[in-house]
Amino acid sequence: MDSPANSVYDLTPDDWNSFVKEWGLPAFRAGQIQHWLYQQHVASFDEMTNLPLSLRERLGRSLRDLGGTARLREHSGSEGQTVKLLLELHDGECIETVLIPARGRNTVCISCQAGCAFDCAFCASGKRGLVRSLSPGEILAQVAHVARLLGERPGNIVFMGIGEPFANYDAVLAAVRQLNDPAGFGIGARHITISTCGVVPGIRRLAGEGLQVELSVSLHAPTNGQRNALMPVNKRWPLEDLLAACRDYTAATNRIITFEYTLIRDFNDRPSDAARLLELLRGLKCRVNLIPLSPVDEFAGEPPPARTLYGFRDALLREGLNATLRTSRGLNVNAACGQLRLQSAGRTENGAAR
Ligand code: SAH
Repeated sequence: MDSPANSVYDLTPDDWNSFVKEWGLPAFRAGQIQHWLYQQHVASFDEMTNLPLSLRERLGRSLRDLGGTARLREHSGSEGQTVKLLLELHDGECIETVLIPARGRNTVCISCQAGCAFDCAFCASGKRGLVRSLSPGEILAQVAHVARLLGERPGNIVFMGIGEPFANYDAVLAAVRQLNDPAGFGIGARHITISTCGVVPGIRRLAGEGLQVELSVSLHAPTNGQRNALMPVNKRWPLEDLLAACRDYTAATNRIITFEYTLIRDFNDRPSDAARLLELLRGLKCRVNLIPLSPVDEFAGEPPPARTLYGFRDALLREGLNATLRTSRGLNVNAACGQLRLQSAGRTENGAAR
């Protein structure tokens, strides 16, 4: 059976206005449909009870609903804890979405690609390479699934799931605008974080968008030698280029950048590493988010002991660098992005599931 090409979440408020006009419907239908999608978090057209049945059926023939965009395949974790969703896209590809509850404000960690081309040594997402990028609708459907689970829209969105946002720039920005739009999810730009492994042209382009989104840069090492060993992207855009782009970004936007720094025992956790990191970031408007490595099968490194973690953080704080130590709130059940997808692909290869 032919299924529709586009997801309901691919349509922007402007698209909905043209859509209803094209179909000869009253203009208010556009608002009704978006209300069901973004305020009521419905999963199907059948639930849009104030639309005529014929319209609901016609919509069903033209657009993928939530389940048709991303079908919930697995759901782990329980209420009040980190919840991990495995979602299957229309072509059978799987992605992960993680809900990290926090007092007063839930955070959703979303994916922007199926797989990843960047192959960071410690990251499970890149182990099988990139399969494809997600459409804006596939990105937004993840938020819709979580909103449905929660019964309300989530407070924070972070692009820290599978994939590199700046390798899918247009779809990510389209999704950000829709997350932000009052007729969409209505989530404030300051509550949306884009995290990059260091794709310099993306950082430079984002600087010109005039958006108030948060930018995170996965730094993880204070020298090119160490960073090359962890992150192949550093060979393309070494630290000098990356830091120059970050400095220009803060100058152009007046926004603070967050640097993510995954601490790996005896690799980047020594006092000399802290000193080099301070040197690298001197004078830059930023904060550093320290994360103990979440062990993955594919990487031999280990997280440092607690004493080293706090010692590293304190060395930064003493010099006036704003540093926080995140002790694996999301990353433990989340257990490093991409693992669930990897396991699921493994099962499929062994002949089970899918
Ligand atoms: N591609 C983007 C976003 C996805 S990864 C980026 O690289 O920023 C989100 C964060 O999780 C990144 O900082 C990434 O380096 C980190 N991460 C991946 N695997 C990890 C692991 N095993 N332990 C700790 N952090 C990890």
